[in-house]
Amino acid sequence: MAIVLATAAAALAYVAACASLPFARCRRCAGSGLRMGRTVIRRRPVARGGCRRCRGSGRRLRWGRRAWNHFAKIRAAGSR
Ligand SMILES: [Zn+2]
Repeated sequence: MAIVLATAAAALAYVAACASLPFARCRRCAGSGLRMGRTVIRRRPVARGGCRRCRGSGRRLRWGRRAWNHFAKIRAAGSR
């Protein structure tokens, strides 16, 4: 029972995080928006192009928010 409560609390906290902060730092570039070199030793940013994952913004949409947007789009299309 405690596990169920903990899971529910974690889910609730995640939903709250998605609602208040829909954007999280991009994992690929750690929020810098720059494309990093592949090796750890040469960790200089590659200037041209920027990060491909976040397209140079340094932010990524949270998983929960993406799902929310998806369902909101379906509902908007259904209730037109
Ligand atoms: Zn990025």
